[in-house]
Amino acid sequence: MTNRNIYMTDELQAIYDQTVEFVANEVLPHGDEWEEAGKVPRDVLRQMGQLGMFSLRIPEEHGGLGMGMLASATFSEALGSSTFAGFDVTVLVHTDMAGPHLVNSGSPEQLAEWLPKAMSGEAILSIGVTEPDAGSDVAGIRSTAVKDGDGWRINGTKMFITNAVYGDMTIVAARTDPGNKYGISMFLVPAGTKGFEVATKLDKHGWRSSDTAELVLDDVWVADEQLLGTTHRGFYETMKNFQNERMVLVGMGVGAAQAAIDLTNRYCQERPAFGGHLYDLGAIRQRMAMNQAKIDAVRASMYHAAWIHDSGADNVKEMSGVKAWGAEVVNQVMYDCVQFHGGMGYMRESAIERMSRDARILPIGGGATEVMLEEVAKRSYL
Ligand SMILES: Cc1cc2nc3c(=O)[nH]c(=O)nc-3n(C[C@H](O)[C@H](O)[C@H](O)COP(=O)(O)OP(=O)(O)OC[C@H]3O[C@@H](n4cnc5c(N)ncnc54)[C@H](O)[C@@H]3O)c2cc1C
Repeated sequence: MTNRNIYMTDELQAIYDQTVEFVANEVLPHGDEWEEAGKVPRDVLRQMGQLGMFSLRIPEEHGGLGMGMLASATFSEALGSSTFAGFDVTVLVHTDMAGPHLVNSGSPEQLAEWLPKAMSGEAILSIGVTEPDAGSDVAGIRSTAVKDGDGWRINGTKMFITNAVYGDMTIVAARTDPGNKYGISMFLVPAGTKGFEVATKLDKHGWRSSDTAELVLDDVWVADEQLLGTTHRGFYETMKNFQNERMVLVGMGVGAAQAAIDLTNRYCQERPAFGGHLYDLGAIRQRMAMNQAKIDAVRASMYHAAWIHDSGADNVKEMSGVKAWGAEVVNQVMYDCVQFHGGMGYMRESAIERMSRDARILPIGGGATEVMLEEVAKRSYL
């Protein structure tokens, strides 16, 4: 069999195939229950850990596969075929949004403590940056960490934190230098730390099998050893992973959009109408063909932007553009897929109804479209 695109190696192809097979067997049959429960069972995550799926981006010296951004592109796209984006994001926050901060900035002791558990799925990670009054404008965060003895005293509130209801450790951003708007540090705060509480398990429009927390940090004390990276440099250190975060959201969206196109084409090809089938109608088949072309283009741009990074060059302009455009395209595709399912597309029992709800967050989370376009625009002065 030939590989799927020019950037695909046999190893990446094997990751894609293994992941698609896993989600078909272990996720699709149970996804509805998990949506109802508002959580992904830990057993499934442990199973993924045992299969090495949480180790792709972990350096080889720490027992991982030491792969690059193309591996995350492949993995996220393959997860998207699950059609349950709540499951996809549970995994990707752990592997590609929280995990990389630990890998990039962790001390040898922190890596030795957390990486083995993260790779096996014994510990699920989350990243707590957003606050009720600070989302896109990360520099506006109000949580504070003040030096106190051999550690730090953290106070504040975090909002919309994925994996923090049932997860095991949150990487928390807090202001440590009040005189500097970028004077933020990151801290490893395990679940169960005194004063660190889930205030609310949030009720969402989509991604319903993913757990999302509002967190309160009330006089939480953490030891110096729990400071991640360099004091006051957390803002810059988290920026190192922004392109990867953006990419995996697009990747899961591309996988989901492809699944939506496939199931809509199948539905239209089987649905009798006007003496034939819906798919015989030019307006439908052509719009679906255009949707396929658009998703093919987003997919190619995403892999290309990942390849730029893995080749050692800066990809901020390209990846921000893919995030802005790709997330919108995924939503356009979902809109058409609901449309061509007719009334059935509006019913809770249809997969496309869930998938269209799930997709809505993609142009908002992990860098809203407008913020992404500014990243492109400010790099476009001639
Ligand atoms: C389900 C879910 C899961 C999440 N998971 C996490 C998580 O695990 N960890 C975490 O830290 N955060 C998480 N977030 C937060 C997410 O990243 C933010 O919601 C996002 O960054 C937008 O911030 P905000 O909601 O405060 O919107 P705001 O910053 O208030 O922006 C509102 C809107 O204004 C527009 N806008 C914003 N800035 C600009 C600009 N510069 N120019 C033009 N228009 C602009 C955009 O359209 C944006 O959607 C999650 C959010 C959701 C909904």
